Amino acid sequence: MEADRLNFLRSLIQTPSPSGFEEKVQELFMERVQDRTDREYKDVHGNAFGVIHPGAAVRVMLAGHSDEVGLMVQHVNEQGFIHFSAVGGIDAHITAGKRVRIHTRDGALPGVIGKKPIHLMEEKDRLKVSKIREQWIDIGGKNREEVLSMVRIGDPITIDTGFDSLLGTRVAGRGFDDRVGAFVVAEVLRNVDRKQLKVALFGVSTVQEEIGLRGARTSSFGVEPHLAIAIDVTFASDCPEVDKRRTGDIALGKGPVIARGPNVNPRFFQLLVETAEKNGISYQVQAEARATGTDANAIQVSRSGVVTALIGIPDRYMHTPSEVVDLEDLDQAIALITKTVEGLEEGMSWIP
Ligand SMILES: [Zn+2]
Repeated sequence: MEADRLNFLRSLIQTPSPSGFEEKVQELFMERVQDRTDREYKDVHGNAFGVIHPGAAVRVMLAGHSDEVGLMVQHVNEQGFIHFSAVGGIDAHITAGKRVRIHTRDGALPGVIGKKPIHLMEEKDRLKVSKIREQWIDIGGKNREEVLSMVRIGDPITIDTGFDSLLGTRVAGRGFDDRVGAFVVAEVLRNVDRKQLKVALFGVSTVQEEIGLRGARTSSFGVEPHLAIAIDVTFASDCPEVDKRRTGDIALGKGPVIARGPNVNPRFFQLLVETAEKNGISYQVQAEARATGTDANAIQVSRSGVVTALIGIPDRYMHTPSEVVDLEDLDQAIALITKTVEGLEEGMSWIP
C-alpha cells in the first residue's frame, strides 16, 4: 500500500469513534476526499458525504461505517470507580486488565479495567466471565466527587490499543470494523476517473452501524440511491477455532469478499465478479443466507428497494481490541469498486 494511503488508514484507526461519537473520524474522511469531490457535507445524524457529479440521473451510494464498538461511562460509585456499559457488541472476556481512554470534554483520560487477583478467586470464579456491569474502571481517583470533576456520565471510552504492522502486509488495530469501510469509500472517491464516471457517486461514511445500522437508514433515505455497495469487514476463517462450515473458506490476503445471497442483487453480484475477473483482481465469495448485519441490510430495503451489493474485508478477531486485516485486501477492494462504478451507466437492467 502506498505511504500516503497507509497514513490515512493509520490516522483513522488511531482516532476513537464509538457509535454516536464519530465526529473526529468524519472530519478526517471529509478532509481526505474534499479535493476530489464536487461537494462534501454532513447530515444531522452525523453521516459524512463526498459526492461526485451530484446531478447525474443514476445515483450510486458507497457506504462504510465510521463507528467502532466501545464503552460508555454509566455510573461512578462512592469510591470513585467507574461502571460502564457496552456500546455495541463487546465481548466481556477481553475487557479485564485493559488500559482505556475516557474521552472527556478536556481530552482523553487514562484508566484501567480492574479485576480481582487470581490468588483471591474461588475455583468456580476462575471459570466464569464477569459481566460488563460487574466490571469497573479505575482512573486513580479518590472518590466520586473527584472523578466527576473530570468525567461526565455518558462519556465514551475506548480500549487503548494502537496500530501495528505485523509480518508482510498484515496490520493489527482496534476497530478495523469498520473504519476500513469508510477508508475504502474515501479511497474510491479519490481514485475514480471523473471523466469516465457516468453516474452520481455518493461516498458515505455512515454512523451508528454497531447499534442497529442507523446511519445507513438515514443516509440512504436522504441520498435515494438506485444502486449501493456497502463495505464492511467479514469473518476470516484462516485462524484457529473459526468454523469454515459456518463462514465458508475466507482467508486474509486472498482479496475482497463478494457476498452472495438475498441481501445482494444477483445482477450486481455478477457484475462485481465479472469486473474482478476482467481486471485481474483477486476475490472471494461468501454465502450470506439471510439479511446481513451490515449497512447493506438497511440500504437494500430503503424506500422501494435499492440494487445493493456487499463487499467484505477479511478480518480476524472482530470486535476485539486487536483485529487483523491484510493491506492487500484493502487495495484490491478499492480497485474492484473503482472499476465497477466506472462501468455503471443509465439503462442497465437490475430486475432479478
Ligand atoms: Zn461490527
